[in-house]
Amino acid sequence: MDYYEILGVNRNATKDELKKAFRTLARKYHPDVNKAPDAADKFKEIGKAYETLSDDNKRQIYDRYGEEGLSNAGFNPHSFSMDDIDLSDIFSSFFGGFGGFSRGYEQNPNAPIDGEDLRLDIEIDFLEACFGLEKEIKIKHLEPCEACNSTGIDKDAKDTVCPVCHGQGRIQKSTQTILGSFTSVTTCPNCHGTGKNPKAFCKVCNGQGAVAKEKKITIKIPKGIESGSKMRVAHEGNAGKNGGRPGDLYVVVYVKSSKEFARHGFDIYTELEISTPQAVLGDEIKIKTIHGEVLAKIPSGIQNGDRITLKGQGVPYLGSESQKGNHYVTIKVNVPKKLSNKEEALYKELFNISKEQSGILDRMKSALGK
Ligand SMILES: [Zn+2]
Ligand SMILES: [Zn+2]
Repeated sequence: MDYYEILGVNRNATKDELKKAFRTLARKYHPDVNKAPDAADKFKEIGKAYETLSDDNKRQIYDRYGEEGLSNAGFNPHSFSMDDIDLSDIFSSFFGGFGGFSRGYEQNPNAPIDGEDLRLDIEIDFLEACFGLEKEIKIKHLEPCEACNSTGIDKDAKDTVCPVCHGQGRIQKSTQTILGSFTSVTTCPNCHGTGKNPKAFCKVCNGQGAVAKEKKITIKIPKGIESGSKMRVAHEGNAGKNGGRPGDLYVVVYVKSSKEFARHGFDIYTELEISTPQAVLGDEIKIKTIHGEVLAKIPSGIQNGDRITLKGQGVPYLGSESQKGNHYVTIKVNVPKKLSNKEEALYKELFNISKEQSGILDRMKSALGK
């Protein structure tokens, strides 16, 4: 498929438009987010298209000769160039800062790169989700390196600029092909595109400008939260590079199921078994809700499968101070299998009464000639 079509841009798209389209699609098809079976392939395809079109050289060749031209020119259009794109960056990040992608050709290696967003999955109890809680979580993220003031360069180092690329982070290479001579630009192998002299790298962070740190933070989980909800914790993702902003942390909250309660939205569902006499005559009964026990009235003549509603005894609405869902109780009428002698005698009496009544009815019907 055509690379422009894959990214959904026209052939005159600017680099910014390409990048924008790429980011939107990469987010959509990121295998962490998109569970469709073809998402991973789609994600790779998008990366391939962007990798080609974001590089002036490759784009020129592609425009003139298509994919074939690229393979003739020594490019492999079927795979990411690992030099330029750090895939692990993408896969380890949630909504990806995509720092690895922009660090290639077009950018000054010293330009600020925003830190990646991170994702943390946590699990909370059923009732905790109903009523909210403050929870301490342990996270691991990149923090700015204090030793080098996050420059990645040792404070006392003298030759700080990469001698191979002279700080450009990239080098030009001419390749002879059957289609002529092409100049390609690749990431400097000496400094891996940083433009900095590896000999001058900060010993603490290995030139990264950031170090991995474990940290405990307390997050406030709102009452009424539903399983699978994402919470954004600002600035707790990875540190940015070259003065870029830190990413955010996304906490995905999973709620454990309950043995007693089923929840749909903000409503609670339970079942209640009652005896046949209770169903016939009605009763008042204590029912356990998430808020505690409440006394509920069971109307006489209730049928098996009927539902009684306990208004406002459900889950507090997310973001509301007073509103709550309902608690619905489905009635199961228990027909006894074993009877005491006394019960049997009483049921027989009931049986005879109902027989008698239906006998009267039959006689009335035949008397009316029906
Ligand atoms: Zn450092
Ligand atoms: Zn270099």
